[in-house]
Amino acid sequence: MEPLGLYIHIPFCLRKCKYCDFLSAPAGEETMRQYAEALVREIRLRGEKFSANMDSADRAPLAADISVGRGSICQNHKKYPVDTVFLGGGTPTALPADCLLSILRAVRESFDVLPGAEITCEVNPGTFSPELLGFLAGEISRVSLGLQSVHDRELQLLGRIHNYLDFLDSYKALRAAGAANVSVDLMFGLPGQTLADFEGSLRTVVELSPEHVSCYGLILEEGTPFFVMEEKGLFTGNLSLPDEELERQMYRAANRILGEYGYQRYEISNYAKPGFESRHNLRYWQRRPYLGFGIGAASLYGKRRWSNTRELDEYLPILLGDAEALSALSRDVEVLSVKAEMEECMFLGLRMDRGVSEKTFASLFGRELSEVYGDVLRKLEAQGLLSVRMEADGSWWSLTERGVDISNRVLAEFLLDE
Ligand code: SF4
Repeated sequence: MEPLGLYIHIPFCLRKCKYCDFLSAPAGEETMRQYAEALVREIRLRGEKFSANMDSADRAPLAADISVGRGSICQNHKKYPVDTVFLGGGTPTALPADCLLSILRAVRESFDVLPGAEITCEVNPGTFSPELLGFLAGEISRVSLGLQSVHDRELQLLGRIHNYLDFLDSYKALRAAGAANVSVDLMFGLPGQTLADFEGSLRTVVELSPEHVSCYGLILEEGTPFFVMEEKGLFTGNLSLPDEELERQMYRAANRILGEYGYQRYEISNYAKPGFESRHNLRYWQRRPYLGFGIGAASLYGKRRWSNTRELDEYLPILLGDAEALSALSRDVEVLSVKAEMEECMFLGLRMDRGVSEKTFASLFGRELSEVYGDVLRKLEAQGLLSVRMEADGSWWSLTERGVDISNRVLAEFLLDE
């Protein structure tokens, strides 16, 4: 049977960064503890529901709000198997370490966390305590550190709570504690950032030799202070935003420099040393099943997709009250049509460097890729935006470098008519 991935959302940060539109905010310790308690309850309730279904002889639907998808249910497991867990946010490490421990304990008691499972925790420099380091070293197999830049001027502009030396202290402490799989996030396209600035960040980080690097271009999201600053015309002079051409050069610099240091790009924004790709994030691009816990967390199971309420004021009372709470949490429940699944298969699959396999497409949908997308594939190939290669298991389609440069436009071609 197909193991699940679990995403656990911790919506707390010590301070809001100026570019951030994630579901996160500062909160007091009491709220954080209540939230952790509610999370534990949600994990236990959902774990029970999934595991109970595994014992049912007729493999009946799991619950009114969740139906069994493509994966068949194995009768040999007492608890539903899980092979990736991701504590994300927000800043998971804003929570007291004992809360994080109780959340992971609930995961292990409610699901069958398989040996060798990838357990990731996002960490921000400046949120480190000895207890937290103990938690990360003992319970977590992969740490994702939010750095964004090695230049303190840029970190300050972004509203980050840490400087570069804070990051370095955190990185060294993690390594000294035995962390063997560390990812570092960087950003490019920042106000006032030059190509040399970004290359400086890249080279400084790769010299530390983390196993994984993510590089995201800045997006000015509505509702953020950066969006307002842009609207007021404040990003001018030495704070000008890089134009499209400079951003492209920065992206190519990431490919080049990370490639020189032995990192392989495996998704548009993600690079890893061999064997250190994020298994949890690959699950999203491969559309494999996942359950999200906590406010705003999304789930995909079979043909169903849903999200939890985004409101803390709704989440806490529901989870701390009624045992029949789960279905009251779900929002935007959607049963995906075959058309929507095919589109997603292409949008998400083409983000990965390995691309989309004709054989996988046919086995998922019972129709040949060429039958559904033949015209689009041929057109984009002729324009040099897609390429096809033969492997032992058949043909794979992927974006060319030119295709990556304008990936949003290319991926939009895979929308199907009604
Ligand atoms: S630390 Fe991350 S989640 Fe928190 S405010 Fe900054 S960017 Fe947003």
